[in-house]
Amino acid sequence: MGKVIGIDLGTTNSVVAYMDRLEPRVIINEEGGRVTPSVVGFSKANERFVGDIAKRQLLINPDATIHSVKRFIGKRYKEAGRDTPLVNYEVAENKHGDVAIKVGERLYSPAEISAMILQKLRRSAEDFLGEPVTEAIITVPAHFNDRQRQATKDAGTIAGLNVLRIINEPTAAALAYLHDRRKNCTIAVYDFGGGTFDISIVGIDNDVGDVRATRGNSALGGGDIDRVVTDWLLEQFRTEHGIDASGDKIVRQRLRDAAERAKIDLSTATETEIHLPFLTADAQGPRHLQVTLTRAAFENMAGPLFENTIDECRKVLAESGLRVEDIEEVVMVGGSSRIPRVKEMVKEFFKRPLNHAFNPDEVVAIGAAIQAGVLEGEVKSVTLLDVTNLSLGIEVEGRRFAKLIPKNTTIPAQKIQMVSTVIDDQHTVKIHVLQGESGTATDNVSLGEFELVGLESAPRGAPRIEVKFAVDASGIVHVSARDGRGVQNAITIRAPTGMSKLEIEQAKSEASVHERRREEAAEVKDSRGTIEKQMVALETFLREHKALMHKQDVAETEQALKRGRMALAKSTDKANIDETSNYLKRFSAHLSDKLGVAIIPIQ
Ligand code: AMP
Repeated sequence: MGKVIGIDLGTTNSVVAYMDRLEPRVIINEEGGRVTPSVVGFSKANERFVGDIAKRQLLINPDATIHSVKRFIGKRYKEAGRDTPLVNYEVAENKHGDVAIKVGERLYSPAEISAMILQKLRRSAEDFLGEPVTEAIITVPAHFNDRQRQATKDAGTIAGLNVLRIINEPTAAALAYLHDRRKNCTIAVYDFGGGTFDISIVGIDNDVGDVRATRGNSALGGGDIDRVVTDWLLEQFRTEHGIDASGDKIVRQRLRDAAERAKIDLSTATETEIHLPFLTADAQGPRHLQVTLTRAAFENMAGPLFENTIDECRKVLAESGLRVEDIEEVVMVGGSSRIPRVKEMVKEFFKRPLNHAFNPDEVVAIGAAIQAGVLEGEVKSVTLLDVTNLSLGIEVEGRRFAKLIPKNTTIPAQKIQMVSTVIDDQHTVKIHVLQGESGTATDNVSLGEFELVGLESAPRGAPRIEVKFAVDASGIVHVSARDGRGVQNAITIRAPTGMSKLEIEQAKSEASVHERRREEAAEVKDSRGTIEKQMVALETFLREHKALMHKQDVAETEQALKRGRMALAKSTDKANIDETSNYLKRFSAHLSDKLGVAIIPIQ
């Protein structure tokens, strides 16, 4: 088995890490960064960029620059209403009723876009480690439901990765703590990122971490704070100029950018100046925005969001059956945990100093790498027992929800439920599987209607069918069934999922074709670079030595340069470029030998 990498696939940024013998290390990406913006940009020529370059085109090409796609992964279109106002690209509905991202005429599933980010991380890891990487651990927010987990796994598959395990982000952070500290205690992991909030309570006993309870909110992150500030900026602009600029995408993107910068500034400064010249123009000329935002005003407007996170802390403690005094350490994770008011509120709630020993941007990927080390067998002495984040159950009479595996059950977990028919000779039984906490079935997330088909003719109530519901170590739900005679596979289960196997395979082969094209384009670029250097060396040589050279040699050198220029003009023909490069190399060596002067291209 090659190296298994640990990936924190974040809403805003992603990080990839690995175990270097017994030490977890963050992998540096192609641009030299430790974090990669989770942004995918498409050019007019349908070229794709991921990371920093894509983030840079956010302002100029907002329709074709996809950020925060994690907010949509595994979501039904009708569930995405709260997230769509946070982005400027088009969010559509695909034929399965799931979210799709529209770029030009093409619809992409959020898993396909996420796969593009994963592909870049995988490439960075391969370049860094100097070997192919095919296996990974990917982290997700603790409160992600089965569909979101499955879609994240699909994204890995599309990117050509075998996803060995999906682990919860706060659990990964707890693993990093466990690996580093080895201290028996109970910790809280407060994870406030770009798009999500999670809080987990973890007991640590010797080398075993035991997640006692976990809660989260998928519409509570840095992006939501930016939206509050953006709305305030729009209001300021309206008050000063009487113009409602909210309909203009570029204006909204500029405001959101400025809002995020101001928010980050206010983590260290007590006030910040927001200056956006030429925001819009009307008959009176250009309109600028210039306002001061104080930390106090910012805390006031974002306060309700911060309060929500504390509310979740209160609830998770109640669910864990512990008191505030039982929590000995609070580990802060995620970029938004750097906000001073957030730190104060968490400190006040838990009544103790916070642990800032870990880099909040990297600790989740570090934990994922440690889990990779555990699965590789390299790291022997840490075990983390995780829990289900949501209750799993089925719909019963009266549209009620019957819980089969309650939330906060240690995973893997399973539950067997006997079902039967309600009419004579019934050949099919439908089981509607859901996740959530509401007693009303429709208020929970539907995972699908699992159909047991192929039942033998029998009076109603006679068939005894054993249905097994299991939640695996990745938090992914599996349903299997066998009939009363104990014959497995006597019944076929049909379960609707987000992307079909065929669609995943198609997306995977498309992604690998794209990767091959990208590699070829990079090789062509390298070869062109070599020719350009050879030609500069030859041109310089000719300029400096022409007067002393034989006429024939001058003509041959000019001919060689002409051939080089022609090859460069056919920019995509790699074979021709390579052949010309070899020819130039041979010609330069021959000329150099003949005249006794070295012709060395600059490196
Ligand atoms: P993450 O998902 O952990 O990468 O967190 C990204 C979020 O953290 C984004 O919304 C950032 O704007 C936010 N963020 C990063 N640094 C800071 C900071 N110093 N103060 C406030 N928010 C920050």
